[in-house]
Amino acid sequence: MRVVVIGAGAAGLVAAAEAARRHADVQLLEKNNKVGVKILMSGGTRCNLTHDTDAKGITKHFRHARRFLQPSVGAFSPSDVVAMFRQENVPTKVESTGKVFPVSDRALHARDALVAIATHAGVKIRTGQPVIGVRPSGHRWCVQLNHQEIECDRVIVTAGGMSYPGCGTTGDAYPWLKKLGHTIVKPRPALVPLTGGSHWTHELSGLTLEDCVAEVHARNKSGKSAVLAARRSSWLFTHVGFSGPAAMDISHAVTAAESLDQIELCVDLVPGLTREEIQHVLSDRKGGRGRQHIASLLAEWLPQRLATALVDLDPSLKVNSSASQMSRSSRNQLVQRIKQLPLDIHGTRGFPKAEVTAGGVKLSEVEPKTMRSRLADGLFIAGEVLDVDGPIGGYNFQAAFSTGRAAGAAAAMKKG
Ligand SMILES: Cc1cc2nc3c(=O)[nH]c(=O)nc-3n(C[C@H](O)[C@H](O)[C@H](O)COP(=O)(O)OP(=O)(O)OC[C@H]3O[C@@H](n4cnc5c(N)ncnc54)[C@H](O)[C@@H]3O)c2cc1C
Repeated sequence: MRVVVIGAGAAGLVAAAEAARRHADVQLLEKNNKVGVKILMSGGTRCNLTHDTDAKGITKHFRHARRFLQPSVGAFSPSDVVAMFRQENVPTKVESTGKVFPVSDRALHARDALVAIATHAGVKIRTGQPVIGVRPSGHRWCVQLNHQEIECDRVIVTAGGMSYPGCGTTGDAYPWLKKLGHTIVKPRPALVPLTGGSHWTHELSGLTLEDCVAEVHARNKSGKSAVLAARRSSWLFTHVGFSGPAAMDISHAVTAAESLDQIELCVDLVPGLTREEIQHVLSDRKGGRGRQHIASLLAEWLPQRLATALVDLDPSLKVNSSASQMSRSSRNQLVQRIKQLPLDIHGTRGFPKAEVTAGGVKLSEVEPKTMRSRLADGLFIAGEVLDVDGPIGGYNFQAAFSTGRAAGAAAAMKKG
């Protein structure tokens, strides 16, 4: 069985290795001069390989793709990923967030392990080979390069999405797959920093809030608003908007919105306290807190610069106003801002800064166990080129490894 795998990222390396392990004759084509470029830059060059959970704990974070991923992640779960790296002398560790990294904190070790697994299995890795198309040729396939065509029995497309195009992921496979009859759900950036805010938030650039809940709500004429995305994690104010895990994890709901007028962003700055608890502290006159400056009271829970900025937002308050000088309406407004701070959204930093691409090949057109195209015999599709995107935390590599492995195993199987 001759198999060509297009794209040597996480999904392609695992797919190629698995097919070769099952005795297929495998070529892995990569347009860059080196393989696994995204692996090398991932997780701040530490590579968050997967998450410390079971298959269900992975798939439940994939919204519409949850059911599609169940068979492949079930067959190749986080513990299998950890074992795969351990066998290649890349032991892993679990951090307090549940993220799994190589003990060495070096993405290079993870990338090299995947290359070693593929090479030992017999995969011929060819770098600097941009594929320009794929077409059926009788009962076989023809993979087109600039000056060559390769005939094969099976093709696995693992060319990734459109995010970080400088890494080689420029959405090349979408037009080929569309020509073969596949539907491409409109690709859009996900896990991307947000643009927005106003002068006062931009002034806070560089400030991190360790624990907040960020939510994107659908604006609704009746005043009721449905939560489209929510994430409790850290938040970073930037000179153009917001970043950090909480902002990036809700970004898919921003890029999915037809119009920014239909959504609103709000942040609970102190999720560990209820409104009543905050009210109690701010109106506690007997305890002596009434004489304290409001900003210093807030600084018990929030970074000082943010505490001061929140007081500044109320024109009736001065920086040195004490809690007892605050009117009831000012206090209510302040509590409201702390628990549900509305922030303007202008958009996102787009594909160049998106860690993942949402959208891609429509999942109903691909068999979830095998990644086999339901529309073209002998074609397999895995990894981020599919309409699959998960949150920060190793979920996206896990999905790429699992779908890649399923595709490789199935592509190596004899017909019939
Ligand atoms: C900065 C950054 C940090 C990240 N950190 C993490 C993390 O720590 N943990 C995590 O789980 N996820 C992380 N991700 C997401 C993760 O990298 C992707 O989800 C994952 O790489 C997808 O794997 P893939 O194999 O499907 O695609 P990719 O890794 O994108 O691989 C696709 C490959 O196909 C090649 N290719 C494209 N077109 C062609 C063509 N025409 N011919 C030949 N080759 C082609 C590309 O050059 C590329 O090498 C991060 C992403 C970025 C951008």
